[in-house]
Amino acid sequence: MAQFINISPKENSGLNLFDFAPLTLKRLVVLGGGESGTGAAVLAKKQGFDVFLSDSSEIKPKYRDILVKYGIAFEEEQHTEELILNAGEIVKSPGIPDKAAIVKKIKEKAIPVISEIEFAGRYTKAKMICITGSNGKTTTTMLTYHILKDAGLNVGLAGNVGDSLALQVAEDDYDYYVIELSSFQLDGMYDFKADIAVLLNITPDHLDRYNYEMQNYVDSKLRILQNQTEKDAFIYWNDDPIVSREIEKLKPSVTLYPFAEKKEPGVKAYTENNNINIDTPNGQFTMEEELVALTGTHNLYNSLAAGIAAKLLDIKDDNIRRSLSDFKGVEHRLEKVARVRGVEYINDSKATNVNSCWYALQSMKTPTVLILGGTDKGNDYREIESLVLNKCRALIFLGVDNAKLHTFFDGKVDIVQDARSMEEAISQAYDVAQKGDTVLLSPCCASFDLFQNYEDRGKQFKDCVRHL
Ligand code: ADP
Repeated sequence: MAQFINISPKENSGLNLFDFAPLTLKRLVVLGGGESGTGAAVLAKKQGFDVFLSDSSEIKPKYRDILVKYGIAFEEEQHTEELILNAGEIVKSPGIPDKAAIVKKIKEKAIPVISEIEFAGRYTKAKMICITGSNGKTTTTMLTYHILKDAGLNVGLAGNVGDSLALQVAEDDYDYYVIELSSFQLDGMYDFKADIAVLLNITPDHLDRYNYEMQNYVDSKLRILQNQTEKDAFIYWNDDPIVSREIEKLKPSVTLYPFAEKKEPGVKAYTENNNINIDTPNGQFTMEEELVALTGTHNLYNSLAAGIAAKLLDIKDDNIRRSLSDFKGVEHRLEKVARVRGVEYINDSKATNVNSCWYALQSMKTPTVLILGGTDKGNDYREIESLVLNKCRALIFLGVDNAKLHTFFDGKVDIVQDARSMEEAISQAYDVAQKGDTVLLSPCCASFDLFQNYEDRGKQFKDCVRHL
């Protein structure tokens, strides 16, 4: 159902919109009526813009209600060019690709396109802690937010998690924001500056949106550095070859805070003698590694990154220690579900690429029954081969088409089985797992063949385990 408020095509009929809607910055069009788009529209309205929101799909009732409440003009299930191409500036939701017809037209007319974060950043003086990377963004963002919030800071959570930054700036602006940034959001950012930027890692992802050019994706991730000065902080994983290469190339003037698993020249956070150490101008922080709640090397990285950020914000060591040790983790990321008859069940449904499954397997301390499969995104299973051979008692392929998995793994692991539903997979895992084992769902693949999304896959896993 297409719907207009304030502006209807009929009212405008006979008129050339370009005649009466002057090309001033005051007309702001928002493309996409989800969390970020709706937030941007509300903020724009509050800032006195002539706002119009357009979505090619149906807008969820939750967001439609907000638009109505604020009297914002919008349309859904269509893009009316006359109402869009007269904008002074466009806020585009990160999900809309540049190859969408309307975006091409906007580009042809050279109308500036920005992201919601860029837009919201103009209207707040809050300190921005921005987190990006190919893997680990949500975990590190939530952990950093947890530390800051528990320390009593007036802090908001934004970006890909939490409410949109723009809505928070519009409704209850905070002193600090912890923001998860995807490459798509970074693409629409120009003047925005992160006070503390975190870049966890860069591995190939989303290449379909980057002309299948890895460097385009890399450039996009490195935008997190833009506008930073030596007063700002850049926290990154020292052993990531791509990030190191880019820093060497860009020589940013920002203050660098590299972290690594072990002490290396120049690193500011690392482990030594079973302790984690963080060195910042605000002093040194030390904590027993064993007390850190999140497990696995990848999560050590995430904890170090969050710890550096917290220390730079001068949060008391006791607070950092408490929050690093009582963080509950994020659903569907190496989430402990239950122990049934001596077997641990772990839900890592968010592991939609081989790299994240690698980290999951690497953190396994017992023989493992691995459930994997789904929609393959061009996976190369050689990356996990030796971990699978060393750690997996059995593999259960959970997907509509398991042929590629069979071709790669058959004959390498004793027990290899097919399942077509989560129920079947869990029942098979229950049969083959032995006391002391772990059953791990870490699929390496997207979920869309059998599930609505990775959350649905993870929820079904948990339900089935709880019904054992
Ligand atoms: P993102 O938001 O970047 O997708 P998540 O925190 O949701 O990251 O984690 C996605 C997957 O990647 C999970 O399976 C998780 O266990 C794994 N993961 C988390 N942190 C890292 C990291 N630093 N490096 C590699 N993999 C990670």
